[in-house]
Amino acid sequence: MGNPKAFIYIPRQEAGYRPVLERIEDYSEVEQTLNTSDRRKQASRCMDCGIPFCHWACPVGNKQPEWQELLYQGRWKEAYHVLSLTCDFPEFTGRICPAPCEKSCVLQLSADEPVTIRENEASIAEAAFREGFVEVEIPPRNGKTVAVIGSGPAGLVVANQLNRKGYTVTVFEKDELPGGLLRFGIPNFKLSKKIVQRRIDLMTTEGIIFKTNTMVGKEILAAEVVSRFDAVCVAIGAEVARDLPIEGRNLKGIHFAMEFLGQQNRVLEGISVPSKNQINAKDKRVLIIGGGDTGSDCVGTSNRHGAKSIMQIEIMPKPPVKHNAATPWPMYPNVLKTSSSHEEGCERRWNIATNRFIGERNMLRAVEVEEVEWITPATGGRPEMRLTGKKEVIEVDLVFLSMGFMHPEQEGLVAELSLATDARKNIVVNKQGRTAINKVFACGDATTGASLVVRAMASGHKAADAIHAYLKNEVSH
Ligand SMILES: Cc1cc2nc3c(=O)[nH]c(=O)nc-3n(C[C@H](O)[C@H](O)[C@H](O)COP(=O)(O)OP(=O)(O)OC[C@H]3O[C@@H](n4cnc5c(N)ncnc54)[C@H](O)[C@@H]3O)c2cc1C
Ligand code: SF4
Repeated sequence: MGNPKAFIYIPRQEAGYRPVLERIEDYSEVEQTLNTSDRRKQASRCMDCGIPFCHWACPVGNKQPEWQELLYQGRWKEAYHVLSLTCDFPEFTGRICPAPCEKSCVLQLSADEPVTIRENEASIAEAAFREGFVEVEIPPRNGKTVAVIGSGPAGLVVANQLNRKGYTVTVFEKDELPGGLLRFGIPNFKLSKKIVQRRIDLMTTEGIIFKTNTMVGKEILAAEVVSRFDAVCVAIGAEVARDLPIEGRNLKGIHFAMEFLGQQNRVLEGISVPSKNQINAKDKRVLIIGGGDTGSDCVGTSNRHGAKSIMQIEIMPKPPVKHNAATPWPMYPNVLKTSSSHEEGCERRWNIATNRFIGERNMLRAVEVEEVEWITPATGGRPEMRLTGKKEVIEVDLVFLSMGFMHPEQEGLVAELSLATDARKNIVVNKQGRTAINKVFACGDATTGASLVVRAMASGHKAADAIHAYLKNEVSH
């Protein structure tokens, strides 16, 4: 442990966000950084617990106490080395991971002030790139080839892990640029695309081949990919958004959240979007249906467009503010989350169902909503929703549907590869990430349903290990 008493007299210090009035004028990252000395002080707060619950909670199994101590001592290069043993891309997780590790930190339990693990991780990653600790690794080739379908965080981890083991890896991506939701989902104000491109450039230098604008099942047949490569990993994400098929759904002005967010990220990349398809929230009254993180990203983007008003509604009840007895420490707490986007301005309401969209000459004009209540049955069990009859018409110009995602987009690809899908339509894999088809593996949101970057990365790591185990007896060393 770096400094055994630091947690007693050094309070948690977050770097915080840029001022609201400044940040809503641009799409640059909102989060700030601490100076090196304060960052090291924050790392000194780690108590190196006998049982590090942070490690238990981290899907990629980061060894936080080890690198906190190295960071406290100013041994940045070694801190990066230890961090990169478990986390392929700490520059992503350090920015956008919801940090279950911090919710499980013993200082969360004892003082409500966990170690700033996520921010410390980002600082180590940035120092590593800045100081040149991130070295290009080009191993000798072992003669085996692997195809990865999809270049989100799951596919990128598979590619990174196997490339460094000597496999020749080709990543097929249907979009214009690699990165998956890191590139065309998560807004730039949370994750700058320079950070994504920096990693893609490094991976390209190390020998990974990215074939963009190439949809497997369309530009190239899945069967061809399977026959040309020694192993294939399906990492196609979960792209089908949940719809709201109610009266008026076809009116102009109702969009899936990802149409809006994907388009904004493309515009910022300089990719042209035909004017007839452009969604602009300027001076519009925006309603976001769905109270989760994707909805929050629509709030931040609408504010940057200059929306007239923004409301986000959620059918579930408002979660408790700081603690929830249903999810005690060290579990990830189901409590109210207020994001940087929410701070920028938006009205939030809970227990609201959407009954119908109301239009005029085919254009959306309003939405009829109704208050609901959640009643726990006398016999116990999950609360059941009941409409209260308290209806209200909200005048709006734009609606973003942000109610979650269902299953991988291409039934065609799934069928072509004969991949089994379960009731929720996720691709079925065994514990090692293998599918029922010889030499085909799968990982990420495609197998779990929509989740988190860090979970997709952990799943990619597992699939890479399984592919290596499958191929290693055949590789020529
Ligand atoms: C708006 C939004 C914000 C989010 N914010 C966060 C956040 O802040 N923190 C967090 O941890 N998580 C966040 N998430 C969740 C996170 O982004 C996902 O869980 C994660 O990206 C899943 O990784 P993946 O690699 O499995 O899939 P994806 O990132 O979805 O990547 C799949 C890739 O496969 C490609 N593809 C699909 N089919 C084919 C095909 N047939 N041929 C070739 N390519 C194909 C797709 O184009 C895509 O690029 C967010 C999600 C959304 C939608
Ligand atoms: S990846 Fe996420 S859970 Fe793991 S140490 Fe980093 S912030 Fe914590």
